[in-house]
Amino acid sequence: MQTIIGLLGGTFNPIHFGHLRMAQELAESLSLDEVRFIPSANPPHRPAPTISAEHRAEMVKLGIANNPIFKLDDRELRRMSASYMVDTLLSLRDELGDKASLILFMGSDAFTQFHTWHRWQDIISLCHIALVQRPLAAKTAPLPKVLDTFLHNHYTENADDLRESSAGYVTMQAITPLDISSTAIRNSLQVKKSARYLMPDNVIDYLETHQLYGA
Ligand code: ATP
Repeated sequence: MQTIIGLLGGTFNPIHFGHLRMAQELAESLSLDEVRFIPSANPPHRPAPTISAEHRAEMVKLGIANNPIFKLDDRELRRMSASYMVDTLLSLRDELGDKASLILFMGSDAFTQFHTWHRWQDIISLCHIALVQRPLAAKTAPLPKVLDTFLHNHYTENADDLRESSAGYVTMQAITPLDISSTAIRNSLQVKKSARYLMPDNVIDYLETHQLYGA
């Protein structure tokens, strides 16, 4: 049986239970061997995070610490150039070969921008995509036509398809909706409100110790 690995890229500014619960539920529903959390150094699609990549990665490390199949993958931080997912996937393929099944996790909010990613049409030949609904996406605009067509061409409801080939499918998985975002957490901390029960306690301890986000 081929290794099957989930990938969650993000700014993780900071990591929270929305990320962790999504990864846990997808790991179970897709029977994954491993989930890699890949913090971006220098995201091309948005302003640079206010907190250093080292702090963001350290918080990811703390957040995933108790889960043996969750791993921090810091290749985008080591690269230090723009964090393009296509380059990350090419580098993972160099390391893992063609046979491993790679599944890129994406919230519905991130997917509405997917057609703006660098070489986005090449990405599906390097991995599968597992989409999850994010509560706030209910308020966002409908999918652009080009992504509708993309979904139509690659969509499967059968999770086994993702195990039987190494790339090429898009699936949608139901998860417990948690309306938690890094933005809302940063805003709360800024006005001295607690982030308890939105993120792991050890991550809260870390950001308090280092006085991140005004905590
Ligand atoms: P920000 O508020 O700073 O934009 P964020 O909370 O959206 O941050 P990211 O690190 O940008 O977090 O997200 C990485 C990935 O995780 C994206 O694909 C995003 O859609 C997904 N994600 C983040 N939070 C949730 C959540 N609560 N439920 C499901 N998916 C999520």
